[in-house]
Amino acid sequence: MMLKLKKLLDTFSKLSVNEERLFRNEENEKWANELVVAKEFRLAAVIFESQEGMFVTDANSVIVRVNKAFTIITGYTAEEVIGQKPKILRSGRQDKAFYSSMWRSIFKTGAWEGEIWNRRKNGQVYPEHLTITAVKDSDGIVSNYVAMLTDISNSKAASNEIQSLAFYDPLTSLPNRRLLTDRLKQASVGCTRRDETGAVLLLDLDHFKTLNDTLGHDVGDLLLQQVAQRISHCINDGDTAARIGGDEFLVLLEDLSGQALEAASQTEVIAQKILYSLNQPYHLDGHEYQASASIGATLFNDNQETIDAILKQADIAMYQAKTDGRNAIRFYDPGMQEAITARVGMEKDLRKAIENGDFQLHYQIQLSSAGQTLGAEVLIRWMHPQRGIISPLNFIPLAEETGLMLPIGQWVLATTCAQLKIWQQNPLTCDLVLAVNVSAVQFHQDDFVEHILTTVADYDINPTRLKLELTESILIKNMSSIVSKMQALSKIGIRFSLDDFGTGYSSLQYLKKLPIHQLKIDQSFVRDLITDVSDQAIVRTIITMAHSLDIDVIAEGVETEEQRQYLLDSGCTDYQGYLFSKPLPIEAFEALLEKN
Ligand code: C2E
Ligand code: CA
Ligand code: CA
Repeated sequence: MMLKLKKLLDTFSKLSVNEERLFRNEENEKWANELVVAKEFRLAAVIFESQEGMFVTDANSVIVRVNKAFTIITGYTAEEVIGQKPKILRSGRQDKAFYSSMWRSIFKTGAWEGEIWNRRKNGQVYPEHLTITAVKDSDGIVSNYVAMLTDISNSKAASNEIQSLAFYDPLTSLPNRRLLTDRLKQASVGCTRRDETGAVLLLDLDHFKTLNDTLGHDVGDLLLQQVAQRISHCINDGDTAARIGGDEFLVLLEDLSGQALEAASQTEVIAQKILYSLNQPYHLDGHEYQASASIGATLFNDNQETIDAILKQADIAMYQAKTDGRNAIRFYDPGMQEAITARVGMEKDLRKAIENGDFQLHYQIQLSSAGQTLGAEVLIRWMHPQRGIISPLNFIPLAEETGLMLPIGQWVLATTCAQLKIWQQNPLTCDLVLAVNVSAVQFHQDDFVEHILTTVADYDINPTRLKLELTESILIKNMSSIVSKMQALSKIGIRFSLDDFGTGYSSLQYLKKLPIHQLKIDQSFVRDLITDVSDQAIVRTIITMAHSLDIDVIAEGVETEEQRQYLLDSGCTDYQGYLFSKPLPIEAFEALLEKN
């Protein structure tokens, strides 16, 4: 029968469609059906031995059949893999989640298609395109899985190559202008959404042409490569450095502060870092070389400006840097440039002021409701040799950002303790308490407690006469360390007042945990107390809160008799403000004490 079937099969496969119909119409119907089955088998066999790698597993994913192409691609013969699971092909480059999502798709849709990294028998990892199809029997139950795979290493390499040529500079491997423009577009949209600022630095090497002309292009290329590396080292992970042609580089800075001046100073810091790094000597194929660059900077924070406009601004600023003598940074916005220059000047002056001790403390009296003098808050003043008295509001933020707050804070504490020491000898002043403002950067120093304790010991003062004013913002992070710092100081009698109370987090939760002796009602609630009902409600709540915690409450910024009366009627115990006195230099303050 097999022979007869084979012979018929040969005939059958030579028949045209019409002849086949004829052939079937006669009494050969039964044979014909068998022939169709046999034909399909042959077809399947031919397909199975195609160029594409194939393997078939049973329902338990055990390999039952592979084709020749499979062996060519993977290096495994049929004997080696039949009975195994496809796991032996895994490269380890995809994680568990990848495989579970693949199986989810197969269970759900009956198939999966995608790119995957597998490992050949010789250990080589390669990318392949893979299709998996579940084969179901007549009852709809999965009987087999058929996998078809193609090795795509060649096309992958080619597309990577194209990608890198299209988006990267071949000399330095930095992104090129196209990729940078793309990122700039995304960044300008992202900035708007997150209320942040971005910046672009356009950097042009000074006198690069001379180097090229004298030492040749190969040496010029070496310089460009080293410059690229140095720039990359100066920027943060999320930022982009690109070479946009010749000796021009662009740096894109993201996630800068939403505050323009702060963003500008962050930009200035990075640009300075780049300038400094580029100024270090280069070794170029045996030549020692010194380079510099001119940098133009511009900020952006809403996508109203086109990318071209942003780049144009950076370009104008860069030319300004060239005109101003090269090896310099210039901002596009002249106002910004002025502010940055002023800031840099102020920082220099502040350092000088610390050296020369150009500060003074002013004392603002604090009184009880009965009018008894309790002490004073000390407030710093900068006595600038040219600009006169500068308010702390105008230099404390800069001092905090530049690390100068620490020496300044130490000076304030030492001067306060020295004053307390003098007052201690006099029965009229020995009970007065001085309140010192403590900035967050001081409080968060590891040696904060130690520093206070040694200063108190050095001046040999009664610690109960020292009060530290903290703001709520200090107290939001790292609760356990805050509690232990405050407890250590509280133990020897130092007091704490919570400054600007009501403007921050004002949670009862932390008030209960902390050794606080006083709440200080922020002056913004006192200002309109007589007319603003919500200020009245806040003030009364704070006073009630203080009473229930059994601590003092002081109102600051009390300027009028009406305010004092309202506070008194609401149960406020202590007072400070222009109504009683402005902050005064020590001589004037002592005169005030005598008068009282
Ligand atoms: P602050 O701690 O809230 O100080 C109260 C501010 O209100 C002082 O301003 C004071 O002169 C002012 N003031 C007092 N009474 C009145 C009043 O009746 N009406 C009005 N309108 N204002 C009044 P000042 O001296 O300019 O200090 C400003 C801020 O600078 C202080 O706010 C404090 O946060 C900071 N500061 C001052 N000295 C120091 C210091 O030595 N260290 C630290 N870290 N910060 C300080
Ligand atoms: Ca204060
Ligand atoms: Ca205050």
